[in-house]
Amino acid sequence: MMQDASVRGTKLNHDAMSKKTQSNSDDQRLSYAADEARLPWLSLLLEMYHTTNQGVAQGIRQGERQGRKLACARGCASCCRSHSDIPVYPLELMGIAWFASEQLSGALREKVRQQLAQHKANPSCPFLVDEACAIHPLRPMACRHFNVFDRVCAEGEDAFHTRREDVLTPVEFHKDKALAMMLRHHQVPTETERKARVTNGSVHALAQSLREVRWENLAQRMGLG
Ligand code: SF4
Ligand code: SF4
Repeated sequence: MMQDASVRGTKLNHDAMSKKTQSNSDDQRLSYAADEARLPWLSLLLEMYHTTNQGVAQGIRQGERQGRKLACARGCASCCRSHSDIPVYPLELMGIAWFASEQLSGALREKVRQQLAQHKANPSCPFLVDEACAIHPLRPMACRHFNVFDRVCAEGEDAFHTRREDVLTPVEFHKDKALAMMLRHHQVPTETERKARVTNGSVHALAQSLREVRWENLAQRMGLG
């Protein structure tokens, strides 16, 4: 069964195809001014991810203060192959589609397009290319949240099930704030109502599994680009 984005998922490895851990670009809110002017939902999504990143960074610092060491590192991406229940929300799907179709170019774009077109035959996440996430700036909340301390996951291991105590628990404040923020996109009118939907968990009914998305449609859109 798919789990809450707060504690499950995978993360990625790519800061211009580089590392899997919190990248420098995660420290600040990303900005795509021209695209945000054209696509107002993109600003909301980038704010949401900035809040998510702040919570993840704080959680990692708390772990480090307790003597733990983040195991996630550059080139480490077995989680992107083995995790099959990564939740992704509609606003996130819009962000991924925008990034893949309008920001990727050249050989990386073509590789991602092919993987999306054939995703049903491939057990890995279709955005994993050369052990890195091709959509790192727009990767889902679940991927941002999933961090493991002290020991790198074995190939095929899902640390959430094998050693939950080593998996970062996201800071509740930031996690809930980001989810409530996202509900503005769904026209939930008041902050009180948005918070209530996060607290009672109904927000998660909006999510689907990343592996079950009809990525063929995005592949087709990229082919037209
Ligand atoms: S989107 Fe895919 S490749 Fe990127 S971090 Fe998440 S699981 Fe890994
Ligand atoms: S340590 Fe585990 S969760 Fe972290 S990047 Fe490596 S495989 Fe993924």
